[in-house]
Amino acid sequence: MGRIYEDAKAWFEANYDDSLPVGTWWSRLAASGWGFPQWPRGADGLGLAPSEAAEVDAARRDVGAFGPPAGIGATLVAPTLFVHGPEALVRRYVPAIATGEELWCQLFSEPGAGSDLAGLTTAAERDGDGWVVNGQKVWTSGAHLAGRAVLMARTDPEVPKHRGITFFAVDLRQPGVEVRPLRDMTGDAEFNEVFLTDVRVRGDDVIGDVGGGWAAAMTMLAIERDLDAIGHDGGGDVLNDVDRSVSVAEMRAAQLAGSSSGFSYATGARKDEVVAGLVARFADRTEPVLRQELAAAHAHRRVLDWDAARAVPPSLGKVLNAELCRRLRDLGFRAGGLPSQLSGEDAPDGGHFQKLALFTQGMSVAGGTDEVQRNILGERVLGLPREPRQP
Ligand SMILES: Cc1cc2nc3c(=O)[nH]c(=O)nc-3n(C[C@H](O)[C@H](O)[C@H](O)COP(=O)(O)OP(=O)(O)OC[C@H]3O[C@@H](n4cnc5c(N)ncnc54)[C@H](O)[C@@H]3O)c2cc1C
Repeated sequence: MGRIYEDAKAWFEANYDDSLPVGTWWSRLAASGWGFPQWPRGADGLGLAPSEAAEVDAARRDVGAFGPPAGIGATLVAPTLFVHGPEALVRRYVPAIATGEELWCQLFSEPGAGSDLAGLTTAAERDGDGWVVNGQKVWTSGAHLAGRAVLMARTDPEVPKHRGITFFAVDLRQPGVEVRPLRDMTGDAEFNEVFLTDVRVRGDDVIGDVGGGWAAAMTMLAIERDLDAIGHDGGGDVLNDVDRSVSVAEMRAAQLAGSSSGFSYATGARKDEVVAGLVARFADRTEPVLRQELAAAHAHRRVLDWDAARAVPPSLGKVLNAELCRRLRDLGFRAGGLPSQLSGEDAPDGGHFQKLALFTQGMSVAGGTDEVQRNILGERVLGLPREPRQP
């Protein structure tokens, strides 16, 4: 570790205090740039390279400091804005993302457009200086909490489908936005149907260019797939359902007690720990089959970490992470025996493993299915013939 690690460690040692309210800590992190060091200077970051940002992350962990907001705004929206702009939207939206004050969600999928995302039919029509949006989205993680969303909408039905889409920032706290939660099999209701009826969007809330929404959305999906591989590991829950007024210490205690979502376990870096805890408590690690599975899971994690450091194509990391989740789920059930079948208050360790296990299958679907990632890898990495395209 070099000078950046030492500087970051000194800053965290001097400034971290887990009796602070979460919101105060996040504001302190944003103002210093140490929360998102890879973000540009002037936009709550320090402009560090990914390898340097990893040193900051290591320093933060070594000090035991709570991370910056882990929500969709911080992990996906801000990095996409830095690539596609415009600068005015970076200035308008990034500050409240960095402090965790404004929560975002991602309005991409529709009942008739998931893998074939370019087939979406939600339409935005020009109206004076702005736009009016009508349509329906589905599986929108965190829409019930979010104040704002990124939205893919069709703005030109006359051109080939990939070219007629625009990427917007939308205020969700307005008439015409109806959010209906969907309960998943973990028992949580974290994704939603979102109905948009005559929803208004400002003319200057276009991310990238009008008609250039496909490129901006693909940037965001690539970031999301990379992140799945590395593990979302900031402070708070991935969906950022955080009361900013509670102390950092209380927030951490609640997470350890098992209040996190299945989404957080499956996407987070902690999943290996959760399964390791189950193994340590219930299993005989000398049992040959279990030993073999433990070794395989360990090797799998090392490959995933190594790939993340080499910046392999995002689709590869995403497929490997979905596989790791399945491996850990199966290992957990084998190691945990009958207690691993229990749920709710009866489950061991606050039910962390049960949420992870039940959410695992979702990891092969969220952010683009395994099959679609394999198509991308086949065509763009291995150079195999393209699959037939629909017009
Ligand atoms: C936990 C979770 C969170 C999500 N959060 C969000 C969110 O916040 N915002 C959002 O917009 N969406 C979200 N989604 C939706 C997700 O992006 C879609 O479910 C996904 O893209 C697949 O679309 P679909 O469900 O319509 O399946 P379909 O596209 O209908 O696919 C059905 C099956 O067909 C297969 N298939 C489809 N096309 C091909 C092909 N060309 N080749 C081979 N196989 C193919 C798929 O792999 C799949 O097995 C979330 C999903 C999950 C599970």
